[in-house]
Amino acid sequence: MHTELVSVGPDAPDEAAITRAAAVLRRGGLVAFATETVYGLGGLALDRGAVARIFAAKGRPATNPIIVHVADIAMARELVAEWPAAAQQLAQRFWPGPLTLVLPRRDVVPDAVTAGGSTVAVRVPSHEVALALVRAVRAPIAAPSANRSQRLSPTTAQHVLKQLAGRIEMVLDAGPTTGGLESTVLDLSQESPMLLRPGLVPLCEIEALLGEPVLLGPRLRDGEVARSPGQHQRHYAPSVPLTLCQGQSHEFVERKCETEPLVGWLALGSAASINRPNVRTIMMPDDPVEYASLLYATLHDLEEAGATSIVADAPPDLPAWQAVHDRLRRAAAGESAAR
Ligand code: AMP
Ligand code: MG
Repeated sequence: MHTELVSVGPDAPDEAAITRAAAVLRRGGLVAFATETVYGLGGLALDRGAVARIFAAKGRPATNPIIVHVADIAMARELVAEWPAAAQQLAQRFWPGPLTLVLPRRDVVPDAVTAGGSTVAVRVPSHEVALALVRAVRAPIAAPSANRSQRLSPTTAQHVLKQLAGRIEMVLDAGPTTGGLESTVLDLSQESPMLLRPGLVPLCEIEALLGEPVLLGPRLRDGEVARSPGQHQRHYAPSVPLTLCQGQSHEFVERKCETEPLVGWLALGSAASINRPNVRTIMMPDDPVEYASLLYATLHDLEEAGATSIVADAPPDLPAWQAVHDRLRRAAAGESAAR
């Protein structure tokens, strides 16, 4: 299959391009598009065939449910069996935006979307291209990140093509995404709200609005192994082994250089430089929002440069860094942690 690359302005997307992409979706095809988080791989959420193709294109395990993107609260409510006060409050405050709400599903939602579970994850994206697309098709769009399963999420159309060219009909190229990390996923289907995945909306803002503490999902508690769908431990990972380093990273990188052809180092703070030809040192921003927006792009660059090993300085252990910490930890899962 030929994958068509179509350029659109990120702020005022070209109507003709959106109309064409919407037509591809209505025929059951797949379109990758920019959101404010990362590029998503969209298909009609209520079309079983399209959803099956999303799983096939990504090589995604059937146990990992997909987030459904909608145009507004009304469209979200058509998919869920309950709409608690907390959902209304959160949606009014954070939608359109990178907050995903997990709620009891209605029967219209195909089993594949929810990985056979009794809940569905919904959000209204704030990127103009994503919004224009759901408005144009006038139907919910299932869209996981537009990467092969277990690989790095894409923040540019080129990243999408690298992994999915020939497997999907179209990519809407709106330039690099600004958020750079996935949405925050909050489960509202139980008695107390529970964080399933930290993301671009900080947990403290959710807690402040709800006026109650949010529980941490199983995977987020220390040392616990994945139990529920969508909480696979190794995820969001570069194809190159990544080690998360708590302090003394300078020495660790030096040692790595003795055996590795090319080491990529995501350095933080005033890391001393290492004068060796086989190290790429990338000084990462010490602001968590800026760090998040650059993380995947930096890892993609290092993959392309042929890095054989990546070392990342552990960011400060502060709430604002929760989402970045989570992605680095998961990228490093399976590698032995450096001390
Ligand atoms: P992705 O869009 O690739 O970032 O992945 C979507 C993620 O959303 C999954 O890995 C889950 O963590 C979460 N998710 C989607 N639907 C549900 C659901 N029904 N219940 C719990 N988590 C969900
Ligand atoms: Mg993903």
